[in-house]
Amino acid sequence: MAKATETVLEIDLNALVHNYRYLRSRIRPETKFMAVVKAYGYGSDAQEIAMCLQKAQVDYFAVAYVNEGIALRKAGITIPILVLHPQKVHFKTLIEHNLEPSIYSHAILEQFIRTAQELGKLAYPIHLKFNTGLNRLGFTYADLPKIYTATEAQHAIKVKAILSHLAATEDRNETEFTQLQLNRFEAICNKAETLFGYKLIKHVLNTSGIINYPNAQLDMVRSGIGLYGYGNDATIDADLIPVVTLKTIIAQKHTIPAGESVGYNRKYVSKKPTVTATLPLGHADGIGRQYGQGNTFVRINGQLAPIVGNVCMDMIMVDVTEIECEEGDEVIIFGKKLPATEFSGTADTISYELLTGISQRIPRVIYKN
Ligand SMILES: *Cc1c(COP(=O)(O)O)cnc(C)c1O
Repeated sequence: MAKATETVLEIDLNALVHNYRYLRSRIRPETKFMAVVKAYGYGSDAQEIAMCLQKAQVDYFAVAYVNEGIALRKAGITIPILVLHPQKVHFKTLIEHNLEPSIYSHAILEQFIRTAQELGKLAYPIHLKFNTGLNRLGFTYADLPKIYTATEAQHAIKVKAILSHLAATEDRNETEFTQLQLNRFEAICNKAETLFGYKLIKHVLNTSGIINYPNAQLDMVRSGIGLYGYGNDATIDADLIPVVTLKTIIAQKHTIPAGESVGYNRKYVSKKPTVTATLPLGHADGIGRQYGQGNTFVRINGQLAPIVGNVCMDMIMVDVTEIECEEGDEVIIFGKKLPATEFSGTADTISYELLTGISQRIPRVIYKN
């Protein structure tokens, strides 16, 4: 890839395809693969990611909200798209864009049926979401008879799929709880298929579920973070490639004597003569203040430079006293050669938060060959 000449988020579509093929290789060929591209494709570029994965023949996409699904349709995505958290006010546009809702309560089921009827739909596909222990969204086992009664009495919608979400698939200390969730889901699926009298697409696993609970892959898996190159596990990370790399350049260098402060509120004071480099990105770009004050490093010419002082809105300063570098040199904030897991770990958070927080003002540069 070309050297950066400003702050950019590079998106490597070859890495994406590699990660997709790797994750696919961990499941049976007949299991469908749903690529999760919510939150701008985990902070990258949902349209580019989705177009690439559609070409690579994923079966399904998932987004969180209706507007995200509409953006994919406008970009040319034709395969099914599940909307995980649709809001009632957007049901009409959801249907107009041929998106599939995840329905998680009686009230929204009734509302969705009414909207589908008003639009003259027949057998419009929906997914039923069940709570098996995450306690976030979802019906319970006991809701099934009422769901069945409500859907049987009409023709506008048809239950196509059934899902649940697991709380701790990446955590080896929680296998018992995960198994409990899986058992609950199995009982729900059996009851639902008996009531409806036909097979449903059953899906429950996220990325770490694919890795740690392959026996529960059922008919489809839902993978997000793994596609972007992170597997919540060092051994899996070794097989994946980070898709995005956040890069910038050195805007200016300063040589300061001992006892000089750097940045707002003078949170860094040099103990000896020090060289700092100012980088053109800050907390408005998704590099929050928790990364400041020496907690976190960036990579310059193969070496690590600590962020000093407070992170500003549009700039950060790093200590380059020991690093040979010049104004204009490329700086890797995270990505290839400095994984997002490592960067985010220094501030006690996770790759998901760091990736999805990258501001939309940073230009995306797409790389593929
Ligand atoms: C975000 C999300 C996923 C993807 O999880 P990863 O850990 O990124 O693979 C799967 N299912 C649901 C319901 C989600 O909200």
